[in-house]
Amino acid sequence: MSSISSETFLTTPEAVAQALSIPVEPLQTVHSVYPLRISAYYLDLIRQHGLPLWKQAVPDLRELDDTDGLTDPLAEEQLSPVPALVHKYPDRALLLVSHQCAMYCRFCTRKRKVGKPEMTVDNAALTAAFHYLRQTPSISDVLISGGDPLMLSTARLEWIIRSLRSIPHIMTIRIGTRVPCTLPLRVTPKLAAMLKKYHPLYINTHFNHPAEITEEAQQACAYLADAGIPLGCQTVLLRGVNDSADIMKDLLYRLIRIRVRPYYLFQADQTKGTSHFRTAIDTGLAIMHDLIGHVTGMAIPTFALDAPGGGGKIPLTPEYIIHKGDTLEFKNYKGDSYSYPNCIVP
Ligand SMILES: *Cc1c(COP(=O)(O)O)cnc(C)c1O
Ligand code: SF4
Repeated sequence: MSSISSETFLTTPEAVAQALSIPVEPLQTVHSVYPLRISAYYLDLIRQHGLPLWKQAVPDLRELDDTDGLTDPLAEEQLSPVPALVHKYPDRALLLVSHQCAMYCRFCTRKRKVGKPEMTVDNAALTAAFHYLRQTPSISDVLISGGDPLMLSTARLEWIIRSLRSIPHIMTIRIGTRVPCTLPLRVTPKLAAMLKKYHPLYINTHFNHPAEITEEAQQACAYLADAGIPLGCQTVLLRGVNDSADIMKDLLYRLIRIRVRPYYLFQADQTKGTSHFRTAIDTGLAIMHDLIGHVTGMAIPTFALDAPGGGGKIPLTPEYIIHKGDTLEFKNYKGDSYSYPNCIVP
């Protein structure tokens, strides 16, 4: 991580307690189980905007109360043919390239391993993953994730991307990263110039709250978008952070303004240590109902849950079909009734 200096982060309970003027003991208790890291940049945003950002970053004793949660809610370990790769769907695979992030989000789905030294991804693990990918021609799309891939040096990330590009059947490369949100200054013209050489390359960012769309985040996304990289956003629906239609609308509008196209809105996974963030499925459906038709379609993500046990992502949509017979009856976004013939054979 040559390009990022250590002062950029707060990584100890003492530093965070001091910075936010809060007691250190609860932070120490949680930190004995789960990693802690907040970038100095995000700490500033917490100071300015309070709770919705605080909750995402600052350890909470409730993380340790959660007894029903699942350690590996998406059964990723069972779906890993080699340690650094998750192969769940026929045509695409998830490559975990880094165990580090610019911030350890308290709601992380991979809380079991992200930020822990056991997850370190070394050259041998990556070489084994490249070998599996080379042997598996059905895979045409590789998602580079982690941890956060943009926590690697630009040179190391380039080595990974170049290795993937040398596999002829890999068509698209995607990077999943929260760095444009949590450490936007890491996104430099040099990084964008490197990525630009490997198109078609897509990036999915991860913003959860309108206050995260700052000038710095806008600049980071501009470097990437100007390099021809289509940008998406994978937002997680979080209680007390973004679980209202008004906050969500504000976030979505701000995303498209910085050229980020909302992709998924995820129902929070049943990850152990995150139950205090979870909302009812109906909360998400109600938010989607308030968005669809009311907000430009460009800004509408797919609301989805990732099925426990490795079933994959399942889209959740408010019900618009009221009755299915010879004639279909619908409600539109305003609640008005419409019908349409089910069978158009004369
Ligand atoms: C989410 C995910 C993908 C990508 O799914 P898309 O719907 O194509 O974005 C691929 N592999 C795994 C293991 C995933 O969890
Ligand atoms: S950036 Fe992503 S992978 Fe890293 S801790 Fe946050 S949610 Fe987890």
